[in-house]
Amino acid sequence: MPGNEDGWEDSSGWDERDWGDGGLASGPGGGREAAPPVPVVAVVGRPNVGKSTLVNRILGSRQAVVQDTPGVTRDRVAYDATWRGRAFTLVDTGGWEPSPGSEAGQASRALAEQVTAQAQLAVAAADAVLFVVDVTVGITDSDDAVAAVLRRSGKPVVVAANKVDDMPGEPAAAALWALGLGEPWPVSALHGRGSGDLLDAVLAALPEAPADTQPGTGGPRRVALIGRPNVGKSSLLNKLAGQERVLVDAVAGTTRDPVDELIELGGISWRFVDTAGIRRRVSHTQGADFYAALRTSGALERAEVAVVLVDASEPLAEQDLRIVSTVIEAGRALVIAYNKWDLVDEDRRLRLDKEIDRQLHTARWAPRVNISAATGRHLDRLVPALQAALAGWETRVPTGRLNSWLTGLVAATPPPVRGGRQPKILFATQAGLRPPHFVLFTTGFLEASYRRFIERRLREEFGFEGSPVRVSMRLRAKAQRRPASRGGRAGRTGRRQER
Ligand code: GDP
Ligand code: GDP
Repeated sequence: MPGNEDGWEDSSGWDERDWGDGGLASGPGGGREAAPPVPVVAVVGRPNVGKSTLVNRILGSRQAVVQDTPGVTRDRVAYDATWRGRAFTLVDTGGWEPSPGSEAGQASRALAEQVTAQAQLAVAAADAVLFVVDVTVGITDSDDAVAAVLRRSGKPVVVAANKVDDMPGEPAAAALWALGLGEPWPVSALHGRGSGDLLDAVLAALPEAPADTQPGTGGPRRVALIGRPNVGKSSLLNKLAGQERVLVDAVAGTTRDPVDELIELGGISWRFVDTAGIRRRVSHTQGADFYAALRTSGALERAEVAVVLVDASEPLAEQDLRIVSTVIEAGRALVIAYNKWDLVDEDRRLRLDKEIDRQLHTARWAPRVNISAATGRHLDRLVPALQAALAGWETRVPTGRLNSWLTGLVAATPPPVRGGRQPKILFATQAGLRPPHFVLFTTGFLEASYRRFIERRLREEFGFEGSPVRVSMRLRAKAQRRPASRGGRAGRTGRRQER
């Protein structure tokens, strides 16, 4: 992991490197289509312009669900929203405090500066910005300053001219053309007037994204059966295939055709990938060749879930652990099958438990089955384990639930202070699944230990049995405040009075 967290300035003002701990491959999981990332729309504006009223209006009947926990401030509030079948994440920046990086005391900072800082954060985190202005007040210095930030950002911006409760208010909305951000949309967040047109404009501004659909299930689930030589892979395969009907499905074309087998287990068809590799015993190559074979066999690449077979009658080997790590790094669902259970006596069982505890703690979340390919013991437990792991792998946590949980967690256990500053987690989204991937938007670097803590608590709260979980952060660049006047037209002179 790169060690230097200072000066990560990029064009968006966020460091988008992955700060996950598992070192997971960043590619989409499982070979199935990765779920499309849901675009983020941030709502910005001065206090009291009607941001939260508008957010509630957009969320409609869902607002009851997303009601904040009493006593918790209105920050880190991100919600799942849909409009005309399109899903997006709506971020209410209303409660965001000014960024903690500035030397000036927060209390003494001018309102314009605070709102501008909020807008900068929002811009960096969002795919589009909904800028709310109160037409009954008109354009203030703060609005001007925010508009300058938004224009510079290059992000799509939709201007909501709010509090246009009736026809006579509309001319005031037109005055907001002066912000230089395109057409102002007259709305009344309070009464709902104009909000449909506004949302149409927001959707039109979003980057092209697939509709709110889950990728289809694309045939039988794909299972890779892997493990070091002699743990019993061929025996297990034969036992499973022998019990049920077997179809050999040759994927033609390459010199070394990977051959999959469809095996029916528990009334469900499963696609065991690259069984030719197992049957041909290419896995009997040793050492470095073995890992090369594991990687290039494509079995893991093509699988959604891996069953790692371990010989329970022998001490866990370095190779076993490396195979488990390979699965985690590839971001596949994982089941660990302890084979040759017929050879395991009470004494060995106790020692095995200790070995697992000590050496396999990074995969504590993987379902475990104790089987015997030789006797057929507990083979029926394989299917429920596979199903549990796949379900964990495909878990999606609703954004509102994720953030209200996170708010409580961070309030109880804040990130450790680093360099005299308390990093703030603004909000989180689940950026992907298969496996679940969470992105924390932060104002400062979060220690690896704190990210591991979050992963542990995520598991306690939401499950993810049998799946790696990826937690990364988007860290706001350290140079938080660019010269305020660059490109901006917010005049330093003629400052209008604000509350
Ligand atoms: P925020 O601080 O930007 O989130 O603003 P709020 O949503 O809390 O709204 C501030 C005040 O403006 C509240 O008293 C709202 O009832 C009022 N308000 C919001 N939208 C409208 C609107 O469309 N018309 C009118 N007349 N009042 C509104
Ligand atoms: P692979 O290299 O992983 O495919 O392993 P094999 O299926 O070839 O098995 C290696 C050896 O372990 C063979 O001698 C098998 O008979 C034996 N074996 C496999 N499964 C079991 C089991 O559950 N119990 C016992 N006692 N022996 C097994």
